[in-house]
Amino acid sequence: MKIVFATANAGKLREAAEVLGPDFEIVSLAQAGITEDIPETGSTLQENSLQKAQYLFERTGLPCFADDTGLEVDALGGAPGIYSARYAGPGHDHSANMAKLLKELGDRDDRRARFRTVVTLILADGQPRFFEGACEGSIAREKRGDGGFGYDPVFLPDAYPGRTLAEVSEEEKNAVSHRGNAIRSMAAWLKSRH
Ligand code: IMP
Repeated sequence: MKIVFATANAGKLREAAEVLGPDFEIVSLAQAGITEDIPETGSTLQENSLQKAQYLFERTGLPCFADDTGLEVDALGGAPGIYSARYAGPGHDHSANMAKLLKELGDRDDRRARFRTVVTLILADGQPRFFEGACEGSIAREKRGDGGFGYDPVFLPDAYPGRTLAEVSEEEKNAVSHRGNAIRSMAAWLKSRH
């Protein structure tokens, strides 16, 4: 089955292909002929992922899914949340975002945080279905590691004590990640329909 994933990120495409397995052919945005930025103006992860999936479905008519992720830090009241990509400004600058996060937390001991992803799937019937995934952890006191992307160098997942997400392999990250968990839940639902 062909399914379009609303991402241009090669890592996310690999992760989804690995989780969904050989029964699914994942089509990237570029392969689906979508070159423009997809609007993302919602006020929750679910609204944003729904907006992206609907935009794609209207244009391609193909089964599709979209994800939206936020980093929620308890001591900051859940910030940066849906603003994770643009926490330090519109430039989507990951280094600036991490610097702002470390500054806001200062030397606080309560550093509990999680990544949360909502995936919206739309099949031929046009009905949206939602799948959630989370990755629990805490915010490190300084950046460490050079793998991954985004906030990975400051995120210490509970699953790998003492290592940031930028210090684990891609396979290790995918096995416990918010997006991996959301896509695994979608994959289980898709497979249960056959
Ligand atoms: P998106 O919804 O996947 O575009 O994610 C929004 C923002 O959350 C990204 O720009 C990153 O800053 C952050 N983010 C999402 N997924 C990850 C991840 O796996 N590791 C680190 N940061 C992430």
